[in-house]
Amino acid sequence: IKKQQELEKMNTALAIETKELQGLVTRDHLTGIRNRHGIRDLLLELVLKTEDNSFKLSAMYLDLDKFKVINDTYGHDVGDKVLVIFSQLISENIRSNDIFARWGGEEFLLICPDLDCLQAHLLAEKLRMLIMEQTWPTGTKVTCSIGVTEYKPREDIAELLKRADNALYQSKARGRNRTTML
Ligand code: GH3
Ligand code: MG
Ligand code: MG
Repeated sequence: IKKQQELEKMNTALAIETKELQGLVTRDHLTGIRNRHGIRDLLLELVLKTEDNSFKLSAMYLDLDKFKVINDTYGHDVGDKVLVIFSQLISENIRSNDIFARWGGEEFLLICPDLDCLQAHLLAEKLRMLIMEQTWPTGTKVTCSIGVTEYKPREDIAELLKRADNALYQSKARGRNRTTML
């Protein structure tokens, strides 16, 4: 009996440790939000849901504008602070079933279940204004560019992301601090 209790204790400890490790690999260190790995399974599940034709799914990339200049002018630590504040602001202004992740560097991905392209575009513009109107530790304006798109039936996730990336690229090319829908 004692042995069994000890084993159960060990099992529980291991389960907790596994969960903590999962948290470490799926969350971004700096901002605490999900990273790329942390959204893969969720995104796959959502794509399956779109087989029910009434279920829409949209995605957007958000990329900070001229972020390198922020680092170069105010230092890397201030750059880090801007990234943390940015992710907090976005997190606080999306729905609980939206999925927000740091895709890498100063680029973020937002997945919006139940939103079509037009609704996602509205949200993107709301978020862009929010960032633009915020007070930042740099004392300057900080802006972001956004690329929005909607999942098309039966396409690969890679195609969805590629289109969102193209849309983001267009926002940058057209002068930054804007949203493009593709
Ligand atoms: P664009 O408007 O075209 O997006 O220009 P940009 O300067 O934002 O883009 P670029 O890709 O040239 O530079 C991104 C910079 O972000 C370079 C990199 O050092 C910085 N960066 C990436 N990750 C971090 C981070 O975790 N912390 C800080 N402080 N900087 C980071
Ligand atoms: Mg950038
Ligand atoms: Mg970038």
